[in-house]
Amino acid sequence: MKVKAHKLYRNDGSKVPFIRSPNQSSKIIRPRFLVMHYTAGASAESSIKWLTNKDAKASAHLVIGRDASITQLVDFNRKAWHAGKSRWRGISGLNSHSIGIELDNPGILQGSPGNWRTSWGRLTPDSDVLIKPRDSDNKMVGWHTYTEAQLDAAREVALTLVRHYDLEEIVGHEDIAPNRKTDPGAAFPMTSFQNLVAGRDDDDAEDLYETTAALNIRKGPGTEFDKFADVSPLPKGTQLSVLDSQGVWRKVDVIDIVNGEMDIVGWVHGRYINRK
Ligand SMILES: [Zn+2]
Repeated sequence: MKVKAHKLYRNDGSKVPFIRSPNQSSKIIRPRFLVMHYTAGASAESSIKWLTNKDAKASAHLVIGRDASITQLVDFNRKAWHAGKSRWRGISGLNSHSIGIELDNPGILQGSPGNWRTSWGRLTPDSDVLIKPRDSDNKMVGWHTYTEAQLDAAREVALTLVRHYDLEEIVGHEDIAPNRKTDPGAAFPMTSFQNLVAGRDDDDAEDLYETTAALNIRKGPGTEFDKFADVSPLPKGTQLSVLDSQGVWRKVDVIDIVNGEMDIVGWVHGRYINRK
């Protein structure tokens, strides 16, 4: 895909469908971040309808359907209204500094296995539900899954935008508005998106990361492996370099001295480390 005049095009030269949203500021922005969302809606069509309705006072640059259809609503250099009150890396009001992508997904479901329902009551088969803890309270909840086609389309778009605008980071709405938002949620493979940015400049001598929370370091890639007891959890802000990865797990070399220990190499969960 390509970006021309802040609009998205396919490789065959055709423009991605563009339905202009009135919910934008005339202000020109220089995006630094990509913010991922879910719509919490019933379909891409209904979300596009809402995000182009003046009453919504909300929008995003792109909406990606479960069938991988892509619709652009706002030019990438215009301020869309997707982030709301938000803060990241010392910057507040991320709408002025980011591109927002909405993925069609109902979000957190109500009920339990055999009877999962969307917030508007649609029955959802267990095969479309991932049970994982919610970050805000660690409670196990049911998340509606994304489709592979949708995620593939989102990755291709994300990579195109990262390269064209030299974006610094891909983040979730829940990362920049943590007490308010839960999207794109635990069913979204955030690490694989963050790696799109990490892969951008392979020439860097070393990719430095830091822990974003107190984080256990283990002898293998999974919670079934023992922790390094003397140094677990690593304190928040511990510097690491990433050596290898397996699924969401990262093999890391701990650069800081932790509890007097040096040269620790082990595995941590990739969600709780960020590129420095
Ligand atoms: Zn959102």
